[in-house]
Amino acid sequence: MTVEKNKNSDCFKVAVRCRPLSNIEIQDGRDSVVSVNSQRGEILIKPNNDPAERLIIFTFDEVLGPDTQQDTVYQSIAYPIVESALEGYNGTIFAYGQTGTGKTHTIQGKNDPICERGIIPRSFEHIFRSIKGTSNTQFLVYASFIEIYNEEIRDLLSNNSKHLQLREKPETGVFVKDLTSFLVQNEQELNNKFMQGIQNRIVGQTKMSSCSSRSHSIFSVTIEKCEVLNGESHVKVGKLNLVDLAGSERQSKTQATGSRLKEAVHINLSLSTLGNVISSLVDPKATYIPYRDSKLTRILQDSLGGNTKTAMIANIGPADYNCDETISTLRYAHRAK
Ligand code: ADP
Ligand code: MG
Repeated sequence: MTVEKNKNSDCFKVAVRCRPLSNIEIQDGRDSVVSVNSQRGEILIKPNNDPAERLIIFTFDEVLGPDTQQDTVYQSIAYPIVESALEGYNGTIFAYGQTGTGKTHTIQGKNDPICERGIIPRSFEHIFRSIKGTSNTQFLVYASFIEIYNEEIRDLLSNNSKHLQLREKPETGVFVKDLTSFLVQNEQELNNKFMQGIQNRIVGQTKMSSCSSRSHSIFSVTIEKCEVLNGESHVKVGKLNLVDLAGSERQSKTQATGSRLKEAVHINLSLSTLGNVISSLVDPKATYIPYRDSKLTRILQDSLGGNTKTAMIANIGPADYNCDETISTLRYAHRAK
């Protein structure tokens, strides 16, 4: 097996986004232990704000402080990946972090006010604006949306709640058998599919008494581009995966048992495998990429490494009581650099 690696940091970017202190944290008199130096790409942590404690500094490709607007996050992280998906390259954006740090805010955001929209709805607008502005080219845009919970895959755009299986064929690689994929004509239809999936996710989770923080969701947009040049048609296919990962908080703290323990084991397995895959992809000495160790990395195999673009946005909160989790998120993200 040959291992293709991302050769430059253009292909793999790690960003850290620190949310502001929440109103409750401010009311509770919480201190911020995180400071951000965007110019230098540094996150500085002062554990427990104790002057005697040493300062811990982490460096990343990009750091986005508490005042960073959704538009800035889109322009600096998502824009280049969506552009290359429109050119026929696969791309993936992950939101990683402890529950409550802003993964869903970053990936999905809110529709009202419009400036609070996250990466997903902005990418829809970007894709269809670009398509409208391109002549002599036909585009077909498909949407699919899955959730991975306890290493089981569910189709969020289908009424069928059965678990889907992974299959592999030499010509197509790994794929999710029976996954629905909808052809969409415009931004509104793409948004409708996304919202439909979000609703199905909530309904399914209510049935299982689970919650979104314990599962991964992957919204994928496949863009087929058929360009006619000198009477010859050229087809390119790019796929954009937008991933809201399960909360990375260490589950042992909650002394989980039974089904909660099972969830914890599966979340730890998939997040650690993702970390291992990414660090092997960026390590020139690595000879083996452990894609097969989790469903998440198997599904995304053709969109990680090789000719693809990937960004991980590690989300953190600034408050003192989250300090240990924040450091563990930064260590994880730093390993992926
Ligand atoms: P997660 O998905 O990681 O559990 P959420 O995205 O649900 O976290 O964010 C938790 C809360 O914090 C939400 O109320 C969200 O609106 C708010 N929040 C997160 N990030 C920001 C931010 N950068 N600016 C303002 N509010 C934020
Ligand atoms: Mg969330």
